[in-house]
Amino acid sequence: RALLQKHGVTLEVLGKSETLPLFGEYSTEMVRQALRQALGRQSRAPEHCVPEQGLAMRPPNLCAGCSHRSAFFTVREVFGDEAAYSSDIGCYTLGLLPPLSAADFLICMGSSVSMGSGFATASGKTTIGFIGDSTFFHSGITGLINAVHNDHDILVVILDNRTTAMTGHQPHPGVEHTGQGPNERRVEIEPLVRACGIENVVTVSPLNHKASRKAVEQMKALSGPRVIIFQDPCVIHERRMSGKGKPQVAQVTQSDENCLNVLNSLACPAFVKEGDAVRVDEDMCSGCMFCLQLDKSFKAKKRGA
Ligand code: SF4
Ligand code: SF4
Repeated sequence: RALLQKHGVTLEVLGKSETLPLFGEYSTEMVRQALRQALGRQSRAPEHCVPEQGLAMRPPNLCAGCSHRSAFFTVREVFGDEAAYSSDIGCYTLGLLPPLSAADFLICMGSSVSMGSGFATASGKTTIGFIGDSTFFHSGITGLINAVHNDHDILVVILDNRTTAMTGHQPHPGVEHTGQGPNERRVEIEPLVRACGIENVVTVSPLNHKASRKAVEQMKALSGPRVIIFQDPCVIHERRMSGKGKPQVAQVTQSDENCLNVLNSLACPAFVKEGDAVRVDEDMCSGCMFCLQLDKSFKAKKRGA
């Protein structure tokens, strides 16, 4: 509008506030209605999808065998409600709901580190920032450098599942391929974290409960900016790339109290509770074998046996 006025063009300019709101995201429907209004066409009732009737109700949930679930489980096992959990944008935001409860606040991409640092400084509370590998490359590095520069007391947990899972498994600078072919200049996360000035950094598989618990306990005993890289591929992406699932699945051999505790604290969607009995839905189970490390009531068996 200012440009047109400057050049003496007297066209009507429709923009924010007349046809579109000043803030917030634009939906397809909002843009469609704005165009109709601008073109003088009659507005139509918005088109909404009608949900299929009779579908099972379920909360937003991480997939069975998702490596984020085991990472959240172990971090919460060590820190519990003592810590504040700063989250970010990715599949791992689904760790929000109980029992994982691993997302107390989230603003925008990269804010798990920057806002987590600010929260730790302002509140004095132990703060853990969860950020995915792709989001870390996108906008987590700046916050981490700032945390080092200001010696912020934050534990950053990079959930490196080797892909950009939430938006459809796109590659990122840390994986073996680009959108066009092999990635000749792959950026490794741990050396990058060290180059940002982080001295305390460890890489561990979140599906190895003993090793990951040890890493989290070690980081709990430290202060200042520090990083755990939980590295294990997204189970869905891995299955799609290899064309096959893992040969083994979990089964429940004894539905006792310990087994119920695992069901209630890990809440893998492959667990099925029927009355007092717990079983594993073999079609859902990815064979991550994490539950087997938590209690002996879970055992491995050959898929289909
Ligand atoms: S092995 Fe256990 S935790 Fe992993 S997907 Fe199967 S039931 Fe879930
Ligand atoms: S798509 Fe991958 S990262 Fe996302 S919830 Fe499923 S297993 Fe986890």
